[in-house]
Parts: sequence; C-alpha cells; structure tokens
Amino acid sequence: MLPVVALVGRPNVGKSTLFNRLTHTRDALVADYPGLTRDRKYGQAQLSGHNYIVIDTGGIDGKEQGIDLEMARQSLAAIDEADVVLFLVDGRTGVSSGDDMLAEHLRRQDKPVFLVANKTDGVDALVAASDFYSLGLGDVYPIAAAHGRGVNQLLSQALSPF
Ligand code: GDP
Ligand code: MG
Repeated sequence: MLPVVALVGRPNVGKSTLFNRLTHTRDALVADYPGLTRDRKYGQAQLSGHNYIVIDTGGIDGKEQGIDLEMARQSLAAIDEADVVLFLVDGRTGVSSGDDMLAEHLRRQDKPVFLVANKTDGVDALVAASDFYSLGLGDVYPIAAAHGRGVNQLLSQALSPF
C-alpha cells in the first residue's frame, strides 16, 4: 500500500490548492486502493520518485448550516484513512474556532500530524506561524501552496518514515 497523506482544515485555508499542486490534478485510481471511498477526493503524487496518495477534504456544497459538522465528518474519515495528516491553517488570519475543534481531535490521535500555516507568501513566515503554537500540536510549518514555497520540504519530512 502507498502512504496516504490527508489534508484537513477549515474551508478556504488552501487544501485544494495544495492538493492540486501535489497531484498536478491527476485523477486518483480510487478503485485500486481498498478501503478508500469516493466520498473524498483522492489524488496520486510523487516525491523523489516515490508515489503516495493525497486526500483532499471539504467538498462542501453551499449549505451554510452544518458546514462545521460536514468538515468534521469528512476530516475524521480522512484522518482515519491516513498515515500522516497535514492540518492546514490560514497563516494570514491566525487561529479560528474551526482550527481549535480539529486541533483538539488531532491531539488525541496517535497519527503523525503536521501543522501547516499556509498563505505565508508576502508575510513574515515566522510571525505568521507563531500564533498557531497555541494549538498544542508542536512545530508549525509555513508554506505558500499557491506558489510552492515550503511544500517539498514539508512533504519530505511528512513522508520520511514511509
Ligand atoms: P480550501 O477550501 O481549503 O480547499 O481552500 P482553496 O484551496 O480553495 O483556497 C482558498 C483560497 O485561498 C483561494 O482563493 C486560493 O487561491 C487561496 N490560496 C491558497 N493557497 C494560497 C497561498 O499560498 N497564498 C495565497 N495568498 N493564497 C492562497
Ligand atoms: Mg477545497
């Protein structure tokens, strides 16, 4: 089985931007990976010639009510399927209540979690990251998914045990 990386986080933090960058929008061969469902979006990606699977979450279809619940439901399912979790937050807005909820769940998991502060282009990455240490998930990894900054270093670390 290939290692599975889940992208979780509240809406608009840049999960799909990172997914597209990692997978180059190649379609995942979902049927080839037992245990994965079509409920979430799967893609195949490569790092230094090694394949892995990326899961995007948050296909929310506009119903304002229940966004938090739907995010939580998809996130929990993706976390279950993953070998490593990338928890994305918005490096420009600081901690939000949606972040707290997911952080609390992730702190109770045994899985490796990387706390990723996205959108750190054009801002001081260290300052942007500093707000998120309060989430209690250890180091904060600043990236800019839209431009690629920090992305390869992050994935190298996240995938190094696999
Ligand atoms: P998702 O809801 O978590 O999947 O977030 P999206 O990937 O749809 O991105 C939400 C918005 O953030 C879009 O307008 C993206 O263009 C923007 N965005 C994503 N990554 C970056 C980044 O690294 N820098 C900046 N400035 N904007 C970004
Ligand atoms: Mg998305």
